[in-house]
Amino acid sequence: MAYLLGVDIGTSGTKALICDLKGKVLATATSEHDISSPQPGWSEQDPRQWWSAVCKATKAVVKKAGVKPNACKGIGLSGQMHGSVFLADDGHETAEPLRPALLWNDQRTAAQCVEIEKTAGGRKKLINMVGNPALTGFQAPKILWVRQHEPKVFEQTKHVLLPKDYIRYRMTGEYATEVSDAAGTLLLDVKKRAWHKGLIRKLGLDASLFADCVESHVVTGELTPWAAKQLGLVQGVPVVGGAGDNAAGAVGNGIVKRGVAMASLGTSGVVFAHADEPVLDPQGRVHTMCSAVDGKWCVFGCMLSAGGSLQWFRNHMAKAEIAAAKRKKVDAYDLLLSEAVRAKAGCEGLMFLPYLTGERCPHPDPMARGGWIGLTARHTRADMIRSVIEGITFGMTDALRIMQGMGINIKTVYLTGGGSRSAFWRQLQADAYNVPVGLTNSTEGAAYGVALLAGVGTGAWKNIAQATRAVIDETERLKPDPGAAKFYAQAHTAYDALYPALRDNFPQLASLA
Ligand code: ADP
Repeated sequence: MAYLLGVDIGTSGTKALICDLKGKVLATATSEHDISSPQPGWSEQDPRQWWSAVCKATKAVVKKAGVKPNACKGIGLSGQMHGSVFLADDGHETAEPLRPALLWNDQRTAAQCVEIEKTAGGRKKLINMVGNPALTGFQAPKILWVRQHEPKVFEQTKHVLLPKDYIRYRMTGEYATEVSDAAGTLLLDVKKRAWHKGLIRKLGLDASLFADCVESHVVTGELTPWAAKQLGLVQGVPVVGGAGDNAAGAVGNGIVKRGVAMASLGTSGVVFAHADEPVLDPQGRVHTMCSAVDGKWCVFGCMLSAGGSLQWFRNHMAKAEIAAAKRKKVDAYDLLLSEAVRAKAGCEGLMFLPYLTGERCPHPDPMARGGWIGLTARHTRADMIRSVIEGITFGMTDALRIMQGMGINIKTVYLTGGGSRSAFWRQLQADAYNVPVGLTNSTEGAAYGVALLAGVGTGAWKNIAQATRAVIDETERLKPDPGAAKFYAQAHTAYDALYPALRDNFPQLASLA
């Protein structure tokens, strides 16, 4: 049976997925990677481990799906964004990186971010050039860091690649990238969907460091005989551009047309909206990037500790539920949520700030700290749990409101991630967002999204809209309750007043740690 392969190089592991040419998922397999932190705030991985994980996961998924190695019609690549692989020109069969890759969550580049904003003529000008302010996670500051601190490595560097594009190089021998991932380098003119040659020159970088940049469904090369052997496939399979993990996940969830957005509640929380135009937030609180849909854009905001806040509560305040869940063979989160239901909406004035690991959107502030405010002697543990869920949801609502304020029309928010498993939390999201929320039949995210892109690039579907229409169906729709929506809008103003009131105290609290 003919099939498509999607590969997603995540931070903790690589996932491979096989679907047939009608989009039906046949199997998935994962293989893990290590992450290292040689100094506080540094985060690195060995790209060669990604390649062995891709080979392992691909062989495993082909076996699990029971398909023939020679029936693969196309491959799509997705991966963690922003990571930087420094390569000399030693051919794709060896491709020994000159140093470990610096990852999206590496925090060493604060000084380089200042330098970039200065070189661009200020933060506003930079946002206008590349759609986003300089953040430590992005690729451009990482390149400047290596140039400054490891000049020998920099001198030998001929190519800087994003994680999935390193895998593409090993698969095809081609240096290529695509617009959705390139937008996270801080060097792409997001409006024009092409490298910002002016900024690259101003930063003193050579444009030849960067790979050719295409639209996400375009075929960038074919499996070489060497790579085919390593992967257990056959040579000549086309590899399409693919997409960065957020844009790929959006395709996998059908967020490819005007009016739809996605709220993903995993450890972090992401609100992602499709945009027909490259609208910018002049304050840089949300990111504007190219979407994987040909000629379209996306806007997204990331809360650092969304589901992570509830996870913290479970791990430290819910030992009894963890034990009971084990005994009863149920999920501890389900037990916590069933207690939260007993508290009233708004928790009688108890609010939780979910800034447990600092915050990114809507408050780009590594010093931000979390906590409860508004406790009285009447409050119970049910209020504490519910307030955590409400605080996370208010944070997600903040991102959504910024996007609506930019003129993005959001008619439905599709829910994904662990937090979407709870029906109570789904309705709470509908009420707080004051927008209908939905679920779809699609649960595989980024790896599925790039398998669909591979199908578009190799002719299984005419375009992404046709592909997602054919394979993704809505399975649930919840409308906001007007009374609850009105109440949450009021409560949200109280929540929003807390961060500005506390902001100046956070650095002092942090200094006590
Ligand atoms: P990750 O980002 O770690 O891949 P997931 O998408 O699996 O995460 O989401 C994990 C988070 O989802 C948990 O931290 C928790 O907050 C939330 N979660 C998981 N299961 C449930 C559940 N049954 N009900 C509500 N929330 C849940």
